[in-house]
Amino acid sequence: MRKYVIMGVQGSGKGTQAALLARDLDLVHMSVGDIFRWHVQRHTKLGAQVRRIMAAGELVGDDLVESTVRERLGMHDWNYGFIVDGFPRSRRQAEFFLESYDIDAVIHLDLPDGEVRRRVLARRICSRCGLDYNLIAHRPREEGRCDVCGGDLVSREDDTEEALAIRLREYHTKADPILELFRGKEFVVTVDARPDKLAVQREIRSHLGLPALAGKASVPLG
Ligand code: AMP
Repeated sequence: MRKYVIMGVQGSGKGTQAALLARDLDLVHMSVGDIFRWHVQRHTKLGAQVRRIMAAGELVGDDLVESTVRERLGMHDWNYGFIVDGFPRSRRQAEFFLESYDIDAVIHLDLPDGEVRRRVLARRICSRCGLDYNLIAHRPREEGRCDVCGGDLVSREDDTEEALAIRLREYHTKADPILELFRGKEFVVTVDARPDKLAVQREIRSHLGLPALAGKASVPLG
């Protein structure tokens, strides 16, 4: 059983790295942002509660986040463990998590703000099937069109300069104390997120003492 948290600013590739680990090790990959987006798209009650906060690039309240995480992990479908992405983002969330689960490691992807801006503003998502693209690293074959379903590619509602500036500020004021809390428990593994995704994955695995990624590691994950 492996229980990991992956942390890093938006655009640091935490979703991609978490997905590579999850697929290979059979972990449940829980992204709180994905859960919220699912609810927003389906106009659920939770979706209505978080939509505006997300669009403004602000953080959803701790109570709502905590109950969302509890509900997802409460499904207990994680026989081989889980990797949590986009959580915790406040000290309170971190404390709740430490009290409730034994964590094996916190993977911290380190990326300078200038590189974050370049990457995030290049992100696109298919409005029909939800596939992720990036105009730097994973371009669609035809501009503005999804390779898989032909849907229109759009920016996420919160990937604007203004929202990004707020998210970066929030990230640094909130994430640094969380990392300190985890560092105090000797959980944190810091990895440079600037190299390409497979090099970053190799580095993570070597820090965690995991075997090298096998099989179809080069399939793009976005
Ligand atoms: P992400 O996909 O991780 O960038 O999350 C998208 C948005 O969902 C964030 O900008 C927040 O508004 C909200 N969100 C996701 N995870 C959390 C969290 N742990 N705490 C508070 N808000 C969150």
